[in-house]
Amino acid sequence: MKAEPLKTILITGGAGFIGSNLCEYFLSKEYKVVCLDNFATGYRHNLDDFISNNNFRLIVGDIRNLSDCQKAVSGVDYVLHQAALGSVPRSIVDPIATNEVNVSGFLNMLVASRDAKVKRFVYAASSSTYGDSQDLPKLEDTIGKPLSPYAITKYVNELYADIFSRTYGLETIGLRYFNVFGRKQDPKGAYAAVIPKFVMQLMQLESPVINGDGNYSRDFTYIDNVIQMNELAMISQNPSAINTVYNTAFGDRNTLNELVGFLKEFLAEYDSRIADVAIVHGKNRVGDIPHSLASIDKAKKLLNYNPKYSMQEGLKDAIDWYWKNM
Ligand code: NAD
Repeated sequence: MKAEPLKTILITGGAGFIGSNLCEYFLSKEYKVVCLDNFATGYRHNLDDFISNNNFRLIVGDIRNLSDCQKAVSGVDYVLHQAALGSVPRSIVDPIATNEVNVSGFLNMLVASRDAKVKRFVYAASSSTYGDSQDLPKLEDTIGKPLSPYAITKYVNELYADIFSRTYGLETIGLRYFNVFGRKQDPKGAYAAVIPKFVMQLMQLESPVINGDGNYSRDFTYIDNVIQMNELAMISQNPSAINTVYNTAFGDRNTLNELVGFLKEFLAEYDSRIADVAIVHGKNRVGDIPHSLASIDKAKKLLNYNPKYSMQEGLKDAIDWYWKNM
């Protein structure tokens, strides 16, 4: 019997934190993977573990160029669109660049995917779309007013995806990621996320600075839960599960103070001096909401999502990776 040809997935932003983890996972599951990235915030070293895999192809290109998008989607079955300029503060400093990549680039990818007749377009949406809504937990249907240019771009993505589903029949699913963390997340630079930044500072016995009193809380989500959501969204055969958005989270929340407590406790197992590093508190950041917590009921019901990693379990794995690789 002739073997079925392998399915091909285009992962945009595949050299970034989430994208490179997706590339690695799907190569291990016997897919062909195409990565489109311009290395704006991603790294070649994130591709080291699989760059020589025959099922992997790297296209260095920019989603702001429609022709790069068209080249990348050619012959592809599924798109997992991760490429974007992340970070709320970056978007406040440079809203034009954020809009060009996150909105115009997104639209290019939708047009190219529609024209190439890809089976499904799964994309990175964001919990920032909940904006100033104070509701807890966050339910997909109730959003507030965006609090940053970045949040606007991610909401516009959802609006465009919905229109492409309804107007052209392109199957889309948006995954509203909540504070994702894990191996390969960049700890460096002005726009680094809090977990890798604090891990690196503590490893160097430097005091992390918490914005505000540390009682703000977040639904910190380990990368392997996010990978599971991408896979379920990509392969789901449930007709009611497509052309919609899902919270992508663990479904629990921890304060910043609790987070730092766990980081110190787990890192002290590698170097006992870390237990004594002092924590410093600074000012609250513009555009930050006090609390964030996802309801994951919709994903459980329609996609059979079952997140395996609590924040604490994820932190232990992530810390081990940073300790061995940084
Ligand atoms: P990342 O910065 O590590 O990855 C983004 C990747 O996109 C990088 O490799 C970068 O080089 C690439 N890229 C940027 N501009 C590009 C362009 N013009 N053309 C081609 N490639 C380009 O960030 P990440 O944390 O892996 O985020 C991935 C996606 O998830 C983004 O869409 C982000 O907005 C979204 N998201 C992330 C989080 C989180 O907690 N990390 C939360 C919500 C949403």
